[in-house]
Amino acid sequence: MKRVLVLNSGSSSIKYQLIDLNRGVTAVSGLIERVGENIGARDGRLTQHLHFDDGKETDSREALDIPDHATGFRLMAEHLQDCGLLKDFHDLAAVGHRVVHGGERFSRAVQVDEAVLAGIRALVPLAPLHNPAAVTGLESARDLLPGVPQVAVFDTAFHSTLPARAYEYALPRDLRRRHHIRRYGFHGISCQYVSRRAALHLERPLDELNLIVLHLGNGASVTAIEGGRSIDTSMGMTPLEGLVMGSRSGDIDPAILTYLMAHADLSPKDVSRLLNRESGLKGLCGSNDMREVLRRREQGDAEAALALDVFAYRARKYIGAYTAALGRVDALVFTAGIGEHASPVREAILEGLSGLGYALDRARNAQATGEVSEIQRDDSRARVLVVATHEEMEIARQALACVEGGVTVALPER
Ligand code: ADP
Repeated sequence: MKRVLVLNSGSSSIKYQLIDLNRGVTAVSGLIERVGENIGARDGRLTQHLHFDDGKETDSREALDIPDHATGFRLMAEHLQDCGLLKDFHDLAAVGHRVVHGGERFSRAVQVDEAVLAGIRALVPLAPLHNPAAVTGLESARDLLPGVPQVAVFDTAFHSTLPARAYEYALPRDLRRRHHIRRYGFHGISCQYVSRRAALHLERPLDELNLIVLHLGNGASVTAIEGGRSIDTSMGMTPLEGLVMGSRSGDIDPAILTYLMAHADLSPKDVSRLLNRESGLKGLCGSNDMREVLRRREQGDAEAALALDVFAYRARKYIGAYTAALGRVDALVFTAGIGEHASPVREAILEGLSGLGYALDRARNAQATGEVSEIQRDDSRARVLVVATHEEMEIARQALACVEGGVTVALPER
């Protein structure tokens, strides 16, 4: 039986899904929240959703004490075993862990051993908000499920094919090398899933397809894919660069940082907070939620209209740039919360791109639903697809491929 448990460990949460790869479905999905908060007050939450073979679904929600991640994983294991959909953990082909940053070392999914764990730990300075939780998840799952292969699947790995002209920043060589400063790119797992899905839909081999993938969620990025390989992407050394996001600025003049530090008395920590948590849609109009931005714009709110305009214009510029990088584009692919569900945002991005030959059909755009929809006009230069992403399915697929193929690691040293 090809079943993989997929884990996504955050600083105060654990998301898990039991994926059945034979049938391509999620059997159990769960969320553990508020880990380590208000210990003793049963302030932790465990929500579990079961999907039975006959189509029935059930939900459960409990308030528990979850003082640390190890407790969270133990509770997850108990709930998984009690629910009846996973009798024995040894039925699992693997546990697949989402790891945000694979740095220069990890260019594909790898089975975890002490050396891999040390490698992921060594990348903590590059991803201080994400990699520590992944390490905790890997250690906890290893202790809890001995004998089940643990596989790390990296969000950066898909972008390991970027050419130097795309990943190098124009900074002094010694600094770049010593501090590992380069563009890594993120959202790779989602890009891999949706590009595979797009290739199936288009009935073309992925390695012949040129795509521009717009992953528009709370975090947002654009990726240029040539022959199935990432050749450029808008997120950089960190997930802060590129598009306007929910609360992240995306591209700004780097001199603004030193200017603010000198004139607004901001520390490096203040600046980081400002750019990551107080900027983007939130900075422009006070709301980081696109649904609310759209609602307010409908009501004639000028700040919300401006926020959408800046968001869409930035995305449009990246589509133009990546069209130039690719030459031939077979499809634009919209995905994630905004990309999949916000037809007015897709319209705002694509209007004005007719000069490049991209043309949206308004009725098809408004009706897009399900796994894959086509929303271009018949005379568009490329297809425009809306594809529902499924990162857990992709992590499960890569984890299984890793344990079955035994593939391991590494980008060449620079
Ligand atoms: P995350 O990056 O946290 O996984 P998601 O992919 O869930 O985020 O995307 C969240 C964003 O998607 C939010 O800005 C939310 O407002 C937006 N979104 C979700 N559903 C809709 C919808 N129906 N219409 C407009 N925006 C939506």
